[in-house]
Amino acid sequence: MSTTRLGDDADLIIRGGRIHTLDDAGTVVSAVAVSDGRIVATGDDAEALRAAEIVELDGRTAVPGINDAHLHAAWLGARWPHLFFSDTPPEHQPSGRLVTTASDRREALLHAWSLLAELGITSYTEPGIGPGEDDGETGCFGTAMLDTYVELHRAGAQTSRVTLLRLFGTIDGESTLADFERGIRTPAPATDPRWLAIPGVKIFADGIPPMATAWVCEPYPDGSTGHLLTRGDDPLTAFRTMIGLAATAGMQIAVHATGDRSIEEFLRVLESLPPAQGAPHYVVHGDLASPAQIARMREVGAGFAVQPLIAAHTQEWAGAQLGPERLASAWPLREMLASGALTTITSDAPIATPDWRLGLDASLSLLGADDAATRTALLRGMTADAATQDGASDWKGTLEPGKVADLTVLDEDPLQPGRGFTSLSVERTVVGGRTVFARA
Ligand SMILES: [Zn+2]
Repeated sequence: MSTTRLGDDADLIIRGGRIHTLDDAGTVVSAVAVSDGRIVATGDDAEALRAAEIVELDGRTAVPGINDAHLHAAWLGARWPHLFFSDTPPEHQPSGRLVTTASDRREALLHAWSLLAELGITSYTEPGIGPGEDDGETGCFGTAMLDTYVELHRAGAQTSRVTLLRLFGTIDGESTLADFERGIRTPAPATDPRWLAIPGVKIFADGIPPMATAWVCEPYPDGSTGHLLTRGDDPLTAFRTMIGLAATAGMQIAVHATGDRSIEEFLRVLESLPPAQGAPHYVVHGDLASPAQIARMREVGAGFAVQPLIAAHTQEWAGAQLGPERLASAWPLREMLASGALTTITSDAPIATPDWRLGLDASLSLLGADDAATRTALLRGMTADAATQDGASDWKGTLEPGKVADLTVLDEDPLQPGRGFTSLSVERTVVGGRTVFARA
């Protein structure tokens, strides 16, 4: 891929390859032209322009920048290269405090951003940072980390766009209604939402199926059912009140819910509320969502952020708790995609690897399908649909004039069946028209 400098109708033209715009019509173009970080023309219109900089694709393929809609970047940067699901033996897994000083926090974020740039990831959701974690074990989720985000954002240091959800309890743990009420009354810092959007809140409803902590309708083998993690006069009233308060305040609500009972209670509240005005509400994980619940989620305009790679890692482990019948209907990605409910494919890194190519291959396995339509749907789950989850589909997620020039360049066409996504090489990452990674 060569770069040359020429004329001046546009800042940048990327040409000479296959460019999947992932617009609704699935348009493929040969070129895009960029000015001031935005796409100003595509196809022949772009080819006809002169630009200060030309990037020749030399037959490679470009897609909209990858958006991982659930990725704990601060934690990932602090833990790297140690992932929970990896070859790292338990005794070598990092534990305790991972970041202490402001410089540790900056380093964790900058480290994560350079990893993400190398993987072609141009946007992500940091799902849960706030005061409930100020005394947290790792130091990765507290108010100080939010401050570091804002500091680096204001310094223009970002190489990926971030949607950040505030958390008013502990990560993977309890939250009280009193803390939540106090939290949402605290205004979020002023930021440019194109780079650091803070549209809403994360609420933990329950745990995970392998630990028998997902809140389920049908009991686990030991007779338990899991339970809600919200606390107040009673957990369910606290949960419903939190959702009502956040929705009334116009906030996006992402609920960690794996069990069918948690999903049901979230749905019941959503069904009683007017539709979300901004970014849509969604379930994070949704492991045990039933087909009927998925259809109702679509009805209320809410979505799912799912992690097929975690499903692959935990399938056997979860099976012991769920039994064969429930296991067979767990992780209903096929039903989610078929229903038309908003569905994003995410990593939950550093739980699983942030390498989205493995996540998409795990998705193909889970679906038992490998055709261009399936690949397109999955890739949209990490681009166009992820932008919808961000409430940002009018300005990012596809490669159309007027949208930001966020692109991931791959050596081969990811929509071509028969070749694992994992075998594709990320060649270049462009964010807002600026190359933030180029393979040497
Ligand atoms: Zn997570």
